[in-house]
Amino acid sequence: MTELLYLSDAYVTTFTARVVDLRDGGIALDRTHFYPTGGGQPHDTGVLAGLSVTEVRKGGTDVWHTVEGGPLPSIGDEVEGTVDWDRRHRLMRTHTALHVLCGVIWNEWHVPVTGGNMEPLSARMDFEFDPLPEGFAARIEELVNVELVADRAIEVSFLPRDTAVQDADLIRTKVSLIPDSVTEIRVVDIVGLDKQADGGTHVHSTAEVGRLRVLKLENKGKGNKRVRVEIIDV
Ligand SMILES: [Zn+2]
Repeated sequence: MTELLYLSDAYVTTFTARVVDLRDGGIALDRTHFYPTGGGQPHDTGVLAGLSVTEVRKGGTDVWHTVEGGPLPSIGDEVEGTVDWDRRHRLMRTHTALHVLCGVIWNEWHVPVTGGNMEPLSARMDFEFDPLPEGFAARIEELVNVELVADRAIEVSFLPRDTAVQDADLIRTKVSLIPDSVTEIRVVDIVGLDKQADGGTHVHSTAEVGRLRVLKLENKGKGNKRVRVEIIDV
């Protein structure tokens, strides 16, 4: 079982860990700061045991790092990992921007998100609108950027499941759908704006995101409207 170090601190890039399993081109560690693809956020890249990390995935309770080249280290070896910070930080900025987008859309229209996916500095999110409000793109761009300028703090905490399922803000984001086997729920709180159960990596403050621009709106059917955005530097 790999300990997910990035859950408690998204800003650490270099770490040591022990190799616990190997397979063709893949390394599993006892702990890692590499984010594995999941929750709409793509994996980190970087260097592990001197080898280039090209993909990171969860396999059961282990995190598998796909590496290029060799030779691979041995099981039991202590190895050093370094996460590519440029890519990670762009993903952190993008992920936080999407939570801000969810927050402002909920506050303004009480419409929930239905899905989404991100790349570094670009993303799409689907919302249950039918139809989209008049002037929607300009309005969300304005609302999101006000929150980004506002420099809101982002706090990460771990709550017992029993506490989390009674939190009104978390109920709205369907915390009850998290399997019963999960006894501790990680909460990402953009203080005063948006609170979600979430396993992603986020920046410390909304000011660190930059600004959001709406690229395109797409009609994906009844009650499903897609918003494509990019994150730009200030
Ligand atoms: Zn998220």
